[in-house]
Amino acid sequence: MAKPGDTPQTSSGAVVPPIELSTTFKREADGSFKSGYFYTRHSNPNRSQLEEALCALEYGAEAFSFASGMAASMAALLALQTGDHIVVPKECYHGTLSLIHDIFPRWGLAFSLVDMTRIDEVKAALTPRTKLIWIESPSNPCLRLSDLAAISELAHHHGAHVLCDNTMSSPLNQNPLLFGCDIVLHSTTKYINGHSDVLGGVLITRERGPLAERLRQVQVCGGGVPAPFDCWLTSRSLATLELRVRQQNSSALRVAEFLAEHGKIRQVYYPWLPSHPHYALAQKQMRGGGGVLSFQVAGGESAAKKLVANVLRIHRATSLGGVETLIEHRASMERPDTETPRDLVRMSLGLEPVQDILDDLAAALAV
Ligand SMILES: *Cc1c(COP(=O)(O)O)cnc(C)c1O
Repeated sequence: MAKPGDTPQTSSGAVVPPIELSTTFKREADGSFKSGYFYTRHSNPNRSQLEEALCALEYGAEAFSFASGMAASMAALLALQTGDHIVVPKECYHGTLSLIHDIFPRWGLAFSLVDMTRIDEVKAALTPRTKLIWIESPSNPCLRLSDLAAISELAHHHGAHVLCDNTMSSPLNQNPLLFGCDIVLHSTTKYINGHSDVLGGVLITRERGPLAERLRQVQVCGGGVPAPFDCWLTSRSLATLELRVRQQNSSALRVAEFLAEHGKIRQVYYPWLPSHPHYALAQKQMRGGGGVLSFQVAGGESAAKKLVANVLRIHRATSLGGVETLIEHRASMERPDTETPRDLVRMSLGLEPVQDILDDLAAALAV
């Protein structure tokens, strides 16, 4: 199997690894598989390269990649069983809530929604059947933080596992396994691939063992795996992950500071602003604030939508973590029962010169 940083053995001497599209691999005369690969749903050289690199980035033991972030989320839930109970944050990615609300109850998975920023609420929600606490920190879309170490300690005391959706931070800004979480989830569609051109997801475990084996079983038998080309593109993106995230952290902080001072903005949500209610926790468990920020516009929903309508350079689109700066009126993207404030705008900073973004926002706010 390939290790991160291995030079691929190719007859041409290519520096960039080849894409191996073959779905099947030759057996030796004695029936063995020299390369360790035999069928691509089980594993494939491009997928192994990606999984090993992602595992190293999160200081994990095993990584399992999927065709989307939602396929990874679904796999984590499928590793549970009928009758189990999970504790879920009220505020998290709307697709995760749909999965837990609309699909899994049909299979007998019970859940409690809590304010994951409050450890007393988490504790009160635990039942003898609780097997998993699901964290998303910073949360979507208001960038609230949950205490990874405290929740992990509570869960382990109770015999439950903790999964942290780390998509918003990227592995550069936060490594939940180092704070005791058992599984890290990423939608690699976002920062990890980073170019808004590949859908993907991954689960990374802190340890080898029964939990990792269940996830592997769901990955391999369920078959929601990424194609070799998608793995190759995502691996290619890892070379620039640190540079991209460093720039996105810095641009997002500049924009957050600009908006916090602006008379037409009511409230800015960005964990690296000292005014953020969880700033101390951010300094403890994160290395940077990330490239996403949210803010409430004075004048309500119509003013928020007007701002989004008036930007010229920033793209009006959902998603995050790409090289283009995106802006959206968030509540209209989410479930109808969303608690996201109607005047909230979410932005994901890309790699454009930050002054261009500040000028665009200033002009749109002046209309
Ligand atoms: C986008 C996203 C997902 C879902 O990932 P897909 O790749 O779109 O399936 C899950 N969690 C968070 C925090 C996300 O931003």
